[in-house]
Amino acid sequence: MFCVKCGKEEETFRGLCIDCFLDGKQLITLPVHIDLERCANCEEFRINGRWVKETAAAAAEDAAISQMSAIDGMRIITVGAEAEELDERNFHVMADVSGELSDRAVTAAAETIVRIKNNVCRKCSRQLGNYYEATLQIRSGSKELSAELRDETVRYVRERIENISSINRQIFLTKVEEVQGGVDMLLSSISLARSLAKELSDTYGAETKESSKLVGKTAGGSDMYRMTYLVRMPEYHLNDVVIFEDKVHKLSGITKGGGKLTRLGDFNASTVRRSRMTEMKVHTSYDSLMEATVVSRSAGEIQILHPLNYTTVDVRIPDGAEIGDTVNVADIDGTLFFVP
Ligand SMILES: [Zn+2]
Ligand SMILES: [Zn+2]
Repeated sequence: MFCVKCGKEEETFRGLCIDCFLDGKQLITLPVHIDLERCANCEEFRINGRWVKETAAAAAEDAAISQMSAIDGMRIITVGAEAEELDERNFHVMADVSGELSDRAVTAAAETIVRIKNNVCRKCSRQLGNYYEATLQIRSGSKELSAELRDETVRYVRERIENISSINRQIFLTKVEEVQGGVDMLLSSISLARSLAKELSDTYGAETKESSKLVGKTAGGSDMYRMTYLVRMPEYHLNDVVIFEDKVHKLSGITKGGGKLTRLGDFNASTVRRSRMTEMKVHTSYDSLMEATVVSRSAGEIQILHPLNYTTVDVRIPDGAEIGDTVNVADIDGTLFFVP
């Protein structure tokens, strides 16, 4: 075939030889301006319909690449972009590609101005509007929920949500409200609230109860419910010293099925079924154990200073226990016990 322009005889591309075809041709194009949405609240950028967390320069580069088009027949192999900040809201972006056109290796470049426009993403607009689907109510089985346990639970929920929200943007904690008897946490998702209630139940041996309330209709016309998950914290807590069947134990583990006990004195391990855990009475809570200074160590025994009267006391320890400079002890009817 002949090139209609220069007459060269070779394979033609739309009537032209490849040189004539490429001559002065813009292989890739970019719009003159590209508007890039940024959430004014969380500062994430919307690229290809998805909100992503990245620097403004990287977002400008991604926005330019997402708007780039190449001529038909070009096979793109690599794509690059380089953003240069003009001011806070405007970036000049140079995009370049390499590829193949009619078996010829080609490169091309194009430029654009990316303009950042503030907006509010759906997640933030929901969060700012106090949107919630479920309430996690943390209460105590007996008296008031202690401030320590309340803070510990709120911290647990916050950390879990932080982890999950990094992969699921629809997940957030709307509000934490201290209420009479405990704390309420308002959550953006029913399934999140359900799984957190279950996790708290498994971690703390808490009882849970769920209830629902019809709050209206969805945009699609179906019933919309809000769920409430009541999590009733037991009196005991992991690492408490408890009395069970008239013996003193450390509650050394809590599982779905029940508790693991380590008896003080002989350190024998046993288990207690979930249904019987309410029979355990807390003798000394984990956060009020006494700390004693270790004076000397020998096999099966250590000498410590009594934390209250500073006399030297011998206490038994489990075989092979690693003993530091201080140990936790509990005073059971005037006798000190090592708490592993
Ligand atoms: Zn030609
Ligand atoms: Zn946002």
